[in-house]
Amino acid sequence: MDEKFAQLKQDILSCRECRDLFQHEPCPIFQGGPMAKIAQISQAPSLKVQETQRPFNDVSGKKLKQEWYQIEDDVFYNPHCFYITSIGHCYPGKGKGSGDKLPPKRCADLWLAKELSLIQNEIYIIIGAQAANYLFPNQNFQDLIFKDQVLYGKPAYVLPHPSPLNRRWFKQYPAFEQERIVEIRRIIHNILELDEE
Ligand code: SF4
Repeated sequence: MDEKFAQLKQDILSCRECRDLFQHEPCPIFQGGPMAKIAQISQAPSLKVQETQRPFNDVSGKKLKQEWYQIEDDVFYNPHCFYITSIGHCYPGKGKGSGDKLPPKRCADLWLAKELSLIQNEIYIIIGAQAANYLFPNQNFQDLIFKDQVLYGKPAYVLPHPSPLNRRWFKQYPAFEQERIVEIRRIIHNILELDEE
């Protein structure tokens, strides 16, 4: 298993499949090991993440780790705790509006199922509408967030993207930050055996 994972990791790190799509050299970013208890799948790295080579090392990550998960960086980046990947492994470039371009679909088609087949996780956390739509096609995003899901036979929890660009959604659905994330945080802390206050 470890050998297979090491080979796959190498294959993804050397992937340059999207050279024709990007204005920059592809730079795949993901983190964690096959024994991670939680597999987290989000949209794609931001420019800051690409520059620092550290997933969720940006404003979105601050909200995700500090406000929502309420865990320290040494837990989040512990390869036995989280396997951190996304449907697009490389920063896709700036979009026409305020956000980044959408991740190229070919990335998830190429890599995601292979990665997830090697991770011995207990639960999935899926972050953002793009990742949710890829894994649960044609389902209502709000329903996905507010109800427990199952993915590949394991419990799965869907979160909105923590990006500040999503502020309107947080205001529209206050029950997420007031109630739903509290339930999901408890599940995360239980699985990681973190002491609850
Ligand atoms: S986005 Fe995915 S498919 Fe495209 S170059 Fe990066 S790793 Fe390869």
